[in-house]
Amino acid sequence: MRIEDVICPFCGCLCDDLVVEVQGTTVVSVENGCTLAHEKFTGDNRLQAPIKRDGRTWHPVSYDEAIETTAQILLEADRPLLYGWSGTNGEAQSIGVHLAELLGAVIDNTSTVCHGPSIMAIQEVGHPGCTLGQVKNRADVIVYWGANPIEAHPRHMSRYTTYADGFFVKGAFLERKVIVADVRETETSNIADEFMHIEPGGDYAVLSALRAIVRGKADIIPSYVSGVAREQLVRVAEMCMNAKFGAIFFGLGLTMSRGKYKNIRNAVELTEELNRFTKFTISPMRGHWNVYGSNEVFTWISGYPFAVDFARGIAFYNPGETTSIDILRRGECDACLVVASDPGAHFPKQCCRHLAEIPTILIDPHVNVTTHLSHLQIPVAVTGIDSEGTAYRMDGVPIRTRMLYKSRYPSDREILEKIYQIVLKEKGP
Ligand code: SF4
Repeated sequence: MRIEDVICPFCGCLCDDLVVEVQGTTVVSVENGCTLAHEKFTGDNRLQAPIKRDGRTWHPVSYDEAIETTAQILLEADRPLLYGWSGTNGEAQSIGVHLAELLGAVIDNTSTVCHGPSIMAIQEVGHPGCTLGQVKNRADVIVYWGANPIEAHPRHMSRYTTYADGFFVKGAFLERKVIVADVRETETSNIADEFMHIEPGGDYAVLSALRAIVRGKADIIPSYVSGVAREQLVRVAEMCMNAKFGAIFFGLGLTMSRGKYKNIRNAVELTEELNRFTKFTISPMRGHWNVYGSNEVFTWISGYPFAVDFARGIAFYNPGETTSIDILRRGECDACLVVASDPGAHFPKQCCRHLAEIPTILIDPHVNVTTHLSHLQIPVAVTGIDSEGTAYRMDGVPIRTRMLYKSRYPSDREILEKIYQIVLKEKGP
């Protein structure tokens, strides 16, 4: 069976033009997708059945037993943590937030280690953003700051920026200027019209220098700012001011380097200042395919986008205190439910050690690093392949992913719904 207009559930681009051929319950070919998409659709390292740790070995258990065990662990915990959520759909995320509220738990998503600082900056100074469609059709200057889309979002440039012809930009490759700001040479910097090679930790100073030039104060800029020559800073500022429509995209090179959320605040303020001359927008390069959705869903229900603590009976949010890394580092939580993510591969050693010491349950289709820290793993269907659901693209546009075939795996939504019902029965409405 050949299926067209398939959504790719891998990165925040959520490309919606894939053509997938399915035989039975196997994807045999993927057209239009990048190599990451190909691996996602055709990879076959799925866990076959729920597994429970028994001393140093694992043994298979039924789905009913795995669900009951998970509910009891969460009910018995004094300070449960529900973490992950960026690799599942909005419907499952919604059940997760309600489950956290019922348990008085902390619920956090992977923004805590990626674009959490972007959200904190946006809460302070707002977000002059736009859709990727606007960028494709209008932008003649693109800035990638601390981001390397050729490796992390391989079709971003061909679908929306450098190589994508738009309604007002007919010959994109020739008409669009690309500026890259990074601390190292990358494949993306190699094709840029301007590459600002910044010293590590120097992003804030370079952003401040650009803001000063845009404000007409180029004469106060020293000959070099964090490794970038004044002449280049002036050239870049002029390219931006002379753009018909400019778009800045920033990645973890900016959110997680020295300055963190202050870097993003400075970048947003640079964007606002550029809007005195022309139209300019700024957008985060969201990594996981539905991490944006986890922020949306958490916010609809609790008022906060990540790191939401329900221990007081109301939603409380204080990044640095209620964020997963801090809770695990303090050894505070006594049970953890990980859904659709792999903290074992990304969290500091001290946090991973604590995850291995407490009962940790992983709901994920694949064996990953977190499996080895867990007490129990429940395999589920993959949203966008053998399950469907809503996801949010990196620009905030909701897109419905499709089920390509029916498999024997339950969806994470079904598993979470059953856990929720057991907890509800114990705790009462
Ligand atoms: S760029 Fe991202 S969403 Fe698009 S096909 Fe590649 S992995 Fe999938």
